[in-house]
Amino acid sequence: NALADPGAVRTTCPYCGVGCGLLATPDAAGGAAIAGDAVHPANFGRLCSKGAALGETIGHETRLIEPMMRHGEGPLGPVSWDAALDRVADGLRSTLARHGPEAIAFYLSGQLLTEDYYAANKLAKGFLGTANVDTNSRLCMASSVAGHKRAFGSDTVPGSYEDLDAADLIVLVGSNAAWCHPVLFRRMAAARAARGTRIVVIDPRRTATADEADLVLPIAHGTDTDLFCGLLVHLADTGGIDAAYVAAHTQGLDAALAAARTRVPDITATARATGLAEADVARFFAWFRETARSVTCYSQGVNQSAHGTDKVNAILNCHLATGRIGRPGMGPFSLTGQPNAMGGREVGGLANQLAAHMGFSPPEVDRVRRFWDAPAMAASEGLKAVDMFAAIGRGEIKALWVMGTNPAVSLPRADAVRAALGRLDLFVLSENVRTNDTAACAPHVVLPAAAWGEKDGTVTNSERRISRMRPFLDRPAGVRPDWWALAQVARRLGFGAAFAWTRPADIFREHAALSGFENGGTRDFDISALAGLSDAAYETLEPVQWPLPAGGGATARLFAEGGFFTPDRRARLVVPATAAPPAGEAEHPFLLNTGRIRDQWHTMTRTGLSPRLSAHLTAPFVAVHPDDAAPLGLAEGDLATVATRHGRAVLEVRGDAGQPRGTLFAPIHWSAANASHGRVGALVHDARDPISGQPDSKATPATLAAY
Ligand code: SF4
Repeated sequence: NALADPGAVRTTCPYCGVGCGLLATPDAAGGAAIAGDAVHPANFGRLCSKGAALGETIGHETRLIEPMMRHGEGPLGPVSWDAALDRVADGLRSTLARHGPEAIAFYLSGQLLTEDYYAANKLAKGFLGTANVDTNSRLCMASSVAGHKRAFGSDTVPGSYEDLDAADLIVLVGSNAAWCHPVLFRRMAAARAARGTRIVVIDPRRTATADEADLVLPIAHGTDTDLFCGLLVHLADTGGIDAAYVAAHTQGLDAALAAARTRVPDITATARATGLAEADVARFFAWFRETARSVTCYSQGVNQSAHGTDKVNAILNCHLATGRIGRPGMGPFSLTGQPNAMGGREVGGLANQLAAHMGFSPPEVDRVRRFWDAPAMAASEGLKAVDMFAAIGRGEIKALWVMGTNPAVSLPRADAVRAALGRLDLFVLSENVRTNDTAACAPHVVLPAAAWGEKDGTVTNSERRISRMRPFLDRPAGVRPDWWALAQVARRLGFGAAFAWTRPADIFREHAALSGFENGGTRDFDISALAGLSDAAYETLEPVQWPLPAGGGATARLFAEGGFFTPDRRARLVVPATAAPPAGEAEHPFLLNTGRIRDQWHTMTRTGLSPRLSAHLTAPFVAVHPDDAAPLGLAEGDLATVATRHGRAVLEVRGDAGQPRGTLFAPIHWSAANASHGRVGALVHDARDPISGQPDSKATPATLAAY
């Protein structure tokens, strides 16, 4: 570890929300050796395949290393930073003057550092006056955010990773943790081996995660709410409710229970609604009822749904009704997808949030306005991701700044997104690689952003733990951090005094101070104890969980004794709206589910550089049950066309008996920039949860045919 190697820099993995600590030891050739950080509480030295291969992904071959600008309809050409920043500032100024603040939007990323995210939100929401600031975290965590806020009054993950070590039952819902949160999954498996922790996997698709399960529930698509409503009824009927906790700290059990009982009155009805065997439902319910130390982890199978928020609340209801929250080995646990989805939420990186977990109520807007001394504070929510790009397509949004994400691949109806980008008067892209699908959509200005290894700041992982991401590589001469570019544009617009930061520590201190500003325990996110951090202390900041209020009180867990962030400090059990499972269409008889594979990350701009990672699964594919493939004349390795109302892709057929009949699975990673075929974002519909706005990427009606 760091003590053994004085040349090693302690930093954080740039991929998933586990947030593993790393030791990076630079070499003379511009690369670095990467190892796990034995003292980081997220991973204690362990790394997955992606983290372990990070050293293979360092290099400048694919990097964008100088600003680029387009003149008229001509191609992008290199320019100075001053010229590029002037163009951005001029474009924003003229858009404001001609069309008003709502014509400006920012689309950010869970890959950004908290300091970058803070700077973008401050500029947009406080100084340009637009709340059209959303992020690719909308595709990842928005339903969990909305569910948390409905139940707890705040976007709070109540527990910690160490609860996985202490649990006797771990329920994984809509989560292929073995591939998507591998280090955390090994921790669960270790608990199972060491102390007999039972693992229940609830997923329509049989994945690698099921290999460690004591019980696998291959639930019908979209019926998670029914299962957890059935569990709530079962708990009530068998004495499983913690009446004292419910009476002291919650509201709404009777209504939630009545609605659940109407929906699924018993185990038989639950089995029928979910397509599960009655004996399996009964076993799961009995295990949950009898196991006090239960943790329910959930991820994209829950969140990426047209009913994602209800699914989240159906899970939270069961933990609130049993008082299993905020105690060792107990609690609901949202597994964050991206490395800094949590940090983005902390600074208001969603269109329906302000900084420090504040919303858009008039007092909150006023509070942030006064703290920032903001001249043009946005007073109401902006457009969420899908709606934002629809507004761009209609010509209502004229200026867009995309930072650290690739919406032309990853958003639903990605072809429509591509077309929309072509309508902008000002399209600014902050990126660190030369070629990706969004960069090919004719941005007017491209700003070369610092990459992992060069960036300096903080990220927050799934357990509310803030870790430093420290630089250990020399930044190419033409490359700058995102916060710096934002501050330079702000200065050009006349807001220099409010953006006079000279280093990330300046931004972090301001962010920490805002979290405590007129807080007094009314908001969950409070790190004001860090507001006075010196530069040296910021540099050596150890991984630490929030809340960290100035008066003390840091804790690994919340809500064991209530203290929710609703006006009456009670949690709410929520009545889920009736939600029909997704239906196929006669002309599109399959449901297409999209997701990750073990060894790639997002659109492969980094993981694709590692030969080791690229050897795992080498080509875009569609997984299909062999009994669905055979009647279509499709055999293993054949090329097939998957088509939806929105697009088509050519994919290699992989027979998979773990794939539910009538469904398909295709990975999200391939794009026009890295393959000649196989871009699935273009196929995904834009159905979304009405509360969270999160797109349903798991159930697009589709056809499958021989290519
Ligand atoms: Fe990185 Fe996630 Fe793997 Fe940890 S589990 S090494 S954070 S990708």
